Amino acid sequence: MLFVNEVFYSVQGEGSKAGISSVFVRLQGCLCQCPWCDTKWTWKLGRQGDITLDACFTKADAPHAAATTEEALIQAIHERFPQAKMVVITGGEPCLQPLRKLCQGLMDLGYDVQIETSGTEIIDVPEEVFVTVSPKVGMPGGRTMKAQALARADEIKMVLEDRSSLDKLDQLLPQCTRAQVIALQPLSCEKASTDLCFETVLARGDKYRVSLQTHKFLQVR
Ligand code: SF4
Repeated sequence: MLFVNEVFYSVQGEGSKAGISSVFVRLQGCLCQCPWCDTKWTWKLGRQGDITLDACFTKADAPHAAATTEEALIQAIHERFPQAKMVVITGGEPCLQPLRKLCQGLMDLGYDVQIETSGTEIIDVPEEVFVTVSPKVGMPGGRTMKAQALARADEIKMVLEDRSSLDKLDQLLPQCTRAQVIALQPLSCEKASTDLCFETVLARGDKYRVSLQTHKFLQVR
């Protein structure tokens, strides 16, 4: 059983997959409590379904969840969005819930699958799934980074607030042995953090990218 907060169709706005048409599956529940979180309604652990799966396809920004099987969710996505290229499983913290069966079922229908996780939980997904770890270090929830999650990441996407966030990233990078992309994302598009991302990418080159929240420029979700 999965606890789903919402499902919507848009384009991926962040990281190396930016611009790809994607179905976003937002799972309910997160323990990190990041102060800048823009989906705080997902924090409440979803362990009871209080809406229907159909209701998840309507934007609500509310701390609710539908309890559903993987099969029902996959079927609902495929019926509504057969043209989508990719399914992005996000949260909340998606790795609080079992993902392997959901990912495999979506890939069997031809979707590429990406997960977006904080890296504070073990990642259990098929090898072909593209894993984006957005490290959350020192957050009020007290969660700590998992070495397994860092090692599984295909991409690290770090929100850079200031130099101290860059220092935190540098401490984690030796464990990120698989990651081919280090995407640096300004905090809330603020000028100082944007400049820091820009300067760091120019200085470091290679795997580094500036990641802007494209969906905010497009004024879409
Ligand atoms: Fe919000 Fe993501 Fe932080 Fe959880 S990990 S509190 S969903 S920003």
